[in-house]
Amino acid sequence: MLFPRDDNITIPDGWTKSGIDSGDWPFTIVMTTPLADPLIDRLLKRVNDPLVPLISLLPDDRDWFDASGPGCWEQALAITERLEKLPEQIRNSANPEDIILARLHSRDADMTASYNTTQPGMVSYAALGGRLDAPAEAANKLVQRDCLSRSFFDRLHICPQCRGSALNVREECHACRSPQIDEQAIVHHFRCGYEGLEKTFKRSDGGLQCPQCNDMLRHIGLDYDKPGSAIECQSCNSINDTPAIGFVCMGCRAWHDAAQMPVRDWFSYKMTPAGTRTLLAGGVGELAPPDRSDTFKLILQQALQHETAFQTPFQVLRGVFAGDAATQTHNLRLASRTEDLVMDVLRSALRPVDTVTRHDNGVLILLPHMDREGIEPVIAEIEQRMSEVVRTDPGLRLDILSRREAEQLLEEL
Ligand SMILES: [Zn+2]
Ligand SMILES: [Zn+2]
Ligand SMILES: [Zn+2]
Repeated sequence: MLFPRDDNITIPDGWTKSGIDSGDWPFTIVMTTPLADPLIDRLLKRVNDPLVPLISLLPDDRDWFDASGPGCWEQALAITERLEKLPEQIRNSANPEDIILARLHSRDADMTASYNTTQPGMVSYAALGGRLDAPAEAANKLVQRDCLSRSFFDRLHICPQCRGSALNVREECHACRSPQIDEQAIVHHFRCGYEGLEKTFKRSDGGLQCPQCNDMLRHIGLDYDKPGSAIECQSCNSINDTPAIGFVCMGCRAWHDAAQMPVRDWFSYKMTPAGTRTLLAGGVGELAPPDRSDTFKLILQQALQHETAFQTPFQVLRGVFAGDAATQTHNLRLASRTEDLVMDVLRSALRPVDTVTRHDNGVLILLPHMDREGIEPVIAEIEQRMSEVVRTDPGLRLDILSRREAEQLLEEL
């Protein structure tokens, strides 16, 4: 399919022209002139097939294109030949994990991360052709399934408000956070002991005049020295030893202190032999999270029985990530990292006999042989460790479940 349509283009042997709705598969979209990103995006949404190759007759190194310039027809042909051999399920799968496997296989490519300033996250994967919204999340799931292996690419700060990584890192005044600051030398007059910013000394020919004793300072090392420097704000005149560090998000304009800035690790990915096998066997299939609640269910069942039979008390804590709704929806990337940290903290704060599992938007904790009095210090301990270890407050709220609630929970699991 030629886009935009151009009847003067000679099609190589073996190719036929077709329209978008012709029903032929696989086909190739051939871009005859360079188009702006939004137009390409719209076209691809219309085609609505993340596997279809897109080539450009003119050289173009944007992620969209599988190939461009001379030789692009041959490369597209190679891709379509590999696509034709894929199982039907994979071709029609809307699961991002399947799409990644199918694209890497058909493009015979790795999912290599590179910086891309056209993306809010500042990183993209050319092999995916801009067809997936959150490729790293899906790729990380494939790593868990051993279908991909990954290697570290880079760690980027992300804006806590919009999750973007287009950030300006700057030195600022501690008092008013203006970036308009200057470093000034400090001058120390030996004879009278006065120490102050160099600009407080009047400069006259041959030296500096001490503002305290009016003596002239002529020889550094003999009359005076410069023991260091200070940061002076041009905006509010405050003076500090060091500048503060602040981040300004160029996406949403929010300002953040360096200490509040979460980071995100990016990886490059490679298909493993298991990945190829999964692909050729039809893909990972429906998006169903692996069921981790099973063991928890059994243990909870047992705890309830033991309490009834032997009066051995147990406690169940339900933890919910209670960040605001906006954070939760935009939060997926950060959330998984933060939640991993939270799980680490929980495991370290609990006894080896306690069980932790993820559940809905939070966690479940079962503490056998524990009465109501014993649980409060445990919660305090968890909260303490959490504040020490987890930099971005995950807003985890822990509730103690009553026996009735624990029984209800058993029904839900
Ligand atoms: Zn932002
Ligand atoms: Zn002096
Ligand atoms: Zn200031």
